[in-house]
Amino acid sequence: MSRPSRFRRPELVHQLAAALRREITRPWTLMEICGGQTHAILRHGLDQLLPDQLELIHGPGCPVCITAEAAIDRAQELAGRPEVILCSYGDMLRVPGSSARTLLEVRAAGGDVRIVTSPSDVLAIAQAHPARTVVFFAVGFETTAPATALLAHQALALGLGNLSLLVCHGRVPPAMEAILAAPECRVQGFLAAGHVCTVMGEEEYRPIAQRHGVPIVVTGFEPLDLLDGLLQGVRQLERGECRVINAYPRASQAAGNGAARALMERVFTPVDQHWRGLGVLSGSGLQLRPPYDVLDAERRFGATIPWSAAGNGIAPGEPASPCISGRVLQGLARPTDCPAFGGRCTPERPLGAPMVSAEGACAAYHRYRA
Ligand code: SF4
Repeated sequence: MSRPSRFRRPELVHQLAAALRREITRPWTLMEICGGQTHAILRHGLDQLLPDQLELIHGPGCPVCITAEAAIDRAQELAGRPEVILCSYGDMLRVPGSSARTLLEVRAAGGDVRIVTSPSDVLAIAQAHPARTVVFFAVGFETTAPATALLAHQALALGLGNLSLLVCHGRVPPAMEAILAAPECRVQGFLAAGHVCTVMGEEEYRPIAQRHGVPIVVTGFEPLDLLDGLLQGVRQLERGECRVINAYPRASQAAGNGAARALMERVFTPVDQHWRGLGVLSGSGLQLRPPYDVLDAERRFGATIPWSAAGNGIAPGEPASPCISGRVLQGLARPTDCPAFGGRCTPERPLGAPMVSAEGACAAYHRYRA
């Protein structure tokens, strides 16, 4: 029998859960921003150990889930071109675009769509196929953006003329701002994603905590990390505090990773971006800045992704669907509130992105609570 990780030791898990029950005196609502944390909470049954007064709302921190249908449509359109090899991470191939079609189906119809595990795979493919045009559909938050930035840097340094980037990276702080500014918002504090803060540090979170009067706790992904993050969040709420606290010091430092941040700043500039479920969020995306913008697939192929300016979470042309992923991604509904959950929508036949991704809330509920 394998021994549990020291961050999962049952006696310590129960001690922290008991401490939470002792300290809480009123109802509080916290959001874990990251889909990886949502999965860990459900997988380890932590939600069932919490005091009744503590409500957890699941956040939009799943890169596959928040990628706009318009971006997926654009990737599909590029993948259908005979000269193009389109590369992306595995989950992106299963997410439906506006016509319910997926990149997997584009591949089945003859498109050259390849799964990669890192941008270095894309570099190797571009070098191996100089006569083809290789497009990297780059998604993910600040955790994966530095590797995309490195790919852009290498492509220019090597003079790779056949590589383009369809950049759909998201930045977490603008999404937190949007959630807090929504009229229906019930979030009173956040568990911030430890791996994002490992790259970006805590700087961007302090003004959010101060402006909105919410505690933000940088939190890891193991049961003890998550319970400690919740305890530190509840303690602050009980005391009326709204500070940024690092409960993940073994991986995350206040300043983040200086080299990764510098590379990102050199290659990207923030841009408004459409998030599925949240609409267009100011400064929530990343765009290639000169001289790296010569790699921009939209520029090279002569079109732009038609982001909706309506800010209602519905991309232009998005069909009517029972999917309430917009409300799920804003923390306004649970996956089990969706009429399609577990019936018309399953991981095998997903109607919406949160059922596709390994970090999606609907997939987590289907796996651990259905
Ligand atoms: S269960 Fe499926 S249809 Fe319902 S919100 Fe989740 S992804 Fe959308």
